[in-house]
Amino acid sequence: MLYNVVMGFFDKIKEYRKMVSQVERSIYGEKQDYLEIYERNLQLEKEIETRTNELNVANKRMLTLQHIWDMMNSSTPLENVLEKVVNSIHGELGYVHCAIIRKLKDEDGDYMQVAAQSHDSAIARVNKIIGAPPIQTRRLAFDPDGIYADTIKNRKIVQTHDLGGTLKYVIPDLTDKQAKDAATNQPCKSLIIIPLCPLNKEFGWLCVFTSREELADAETDFLSLFAQQIEMSITITDLFLAVKEQAVTDSLTGLYNRRFFEENLKREVTRAKRQNQPFSIIGLDLDFLKKINDEHGHAYGDLAIKTVADVLKSNARSIDLPARMGGEEFNVLLPGIDSKGAMIAAERIRKAIESQKLDVVGQITASVGVATFFEHTDNVEELLELTDQAMYTSKHNGRNQVTLAKPISETSWQEVAINAFLEILSKRKIPIPKEISKELKDKLKNTDDMSKDTLYTVADILTSTYNPMHNNGAVKSKVLLATSLAKRFDLPKNEVDNLRIAILLYDIGNLMLPHELLQKTTPLTEKEKSHIKEHPIIAAREILKPISNIQDIIPIIENHHENWDGTGYPKNLSQEQIPLTSQIILIIDTYFALIEHRPYRAKLSPEDAVKVIQNDAGKKWNKTLVQEFITLLDIVQ
Ligand code: GH3
Ligand code: MG
Repeated sequence: MLYNVVMGFFDKIKEYRKMVSQVERSIYGEKQDYLEIYERNLQLEKEIETRTNELNVANKRMLTLQHIWDMMNSSTPLENVLEKVVNSIHGELGYVHCAIIRKLKDEDGDYMQVAAQSHDSAIARVNKIIGAPPIQTRRLAFDPDGIYADTIKNRKIVQTHDLGGTLKYVIPDLTDKQAKDAATNQPCKSLIIIPLCPLNKEFGWLCVFTSREELADAETDFLSLFAQQIEMSITITDLFLAVKEQAVTDSLTGLYNRRFFEENLKREVTRAKRQNQPFSIIGLDLDFLKKINDEHGHAYGDLAIKTVADVLKSNARSIDLPARMGGEEFNVLLPGIDSKGAMIAAERIRKAIESQKLDVVGQITASVGVATFFEHTDNVEELLELTDQAMYTSKHNGRNQVTLAKPISETSWQEVAINAFLEILSKRKIPIPKEISKELKDKLKNTDDMSKDTLYTVADILTSTYNPMHNNGAVKSKVLLATSLAKRFDLPKNEVDNLRIAILLYDIGNLMLPHELLQKTTPLTEKEKSHIKEHPIIAAREILKPISNIQDIIPIIENHHENWDGTGYPKNLSQEQIPLTSQIILIIDTYFALIEHRPYRAKLSPEDAVKVIQNDAGKKWNKTLVQEFITLLDIVQ
């Protein structure tokens, strides 16, 4: 019985043990399960983190793309869009540097040029190493067998780690050391080149410099996406420009634009010549628009412009062509109409403008000029110039009036100047070597439509015979500057023409002065000074007097050393006694002499030359002249 009890007890214990080990096993199993779950959780968390990071990057890329998309849809010019794209790729996506390079072509063949690049220290460092000029202004070499050509040919993205080699490839004259220096010490490890071929045209490349060695597939994908966006903005801009090119009307007024006017003017000239019929141009400029803008605001200025446009439209016959040439300048082309008819039309327009009563602004007026083809000139450029000149005469005489152009003399100023030079050279009035004289005569005789340029060259060569420091091309600059200055003072066309010829000839008397005197580096004696002062008179009297058709030019030259305060020479004229044209020559001659080297002094910078001239305002020149001259230089430079 006890045995049974004991055995039962042991059985029970065994059973319990079994149960305990079962429980233990199941606890262990569960622990294992928990561990597995725990680890799986850890992995999942990691994955979530990676995915979140990827999502963040993707989001950023999307935002940058969105940004570019927004820009593309604005009317921003292409270069600004490209600039923003490269800066976004660099700044928002964290690439070391980004550039868009164009593939271009000229008479010397294909080449490459930076169209936009991100502003960063990487490029600043490269520019420092390669020296001036900076890479963005250089003409970069294009090798038809090189890596850039390959990417375009195969339309594929390429990654290169040879940064020095790639740089040397576009700037072949770089030394190996420069190329190596530029490539090392950089956070860049590789360059990714993506071809840009909008509508299959070879536009250029998107170049992205990264701090990573490898290029992931996802990165290739999104860079392609970027490239596609850039290609699309290029296409849109091209389309926009093409549409703008085709536009024939002005958006504010609905009148024809300058381009359309000029095209039709050309056609009209052909027609007029073929049918031997005149046509006229009415040129019109709104009076005191600046005042309207200043007093009432731009919107009222615009209203005044629109009002003039409406008057022009309602007064035009169906074959007339009224156009807005720009700003507040209008032209009307009147086919088949002579000056008499055009004056009637112009007067009708002037009256109609004057009788408009505008809100707030009140009355507006315009100054009008009229010129007629054949009657005033048979050269279309001259016709436009004469219309302009007549319009300025209206302004000058008190505005709100019509002026008819004055016919210009049969011969143009170029012809007068060419003949003058030929006479001077043929009569051997001036002591210059025979070969030079022959060369100049040949040039003058064989000149065609480019006669102006021949004249400038001849005058440059003549000047160089007595002034070795003369800059070739200076004569042309002087004539252009003198013409612009004269126009600012509303000088009539014949005076402007005389001034142009005078600029070519005013210093010709220097040819008669001894060479040693002109080249002297030490201060001149009083006797030498008075000798040098004689040159304008020598020029005027001895050389130019016997020459035909330039008698009006002689007084201009004779007086080109007279000072406003009466201290000049040869006649000590002062103020209004001095022709304005002579004063213009003096200021232009002084300015160009100052910016050239002289035996006795170094050349001055344009800014310093202007200071010297300003110093003599009111002494050598009338103050207004100095003011106008400086304003003009600001524009010209
Ligand atoms: P003047 O009688 O001598 O012609 O005097 P003005 O004020 O009309 O001429 P000026 O040449 O001194 O100034 C022209 C002004 O016209 C300056 C420019 O800002 C303004 N202007 C040009 N185009 C437009 C335009 O489209 N709208 C407006 N509101 N103003 C314009
Ligand atoms: Mg005006």
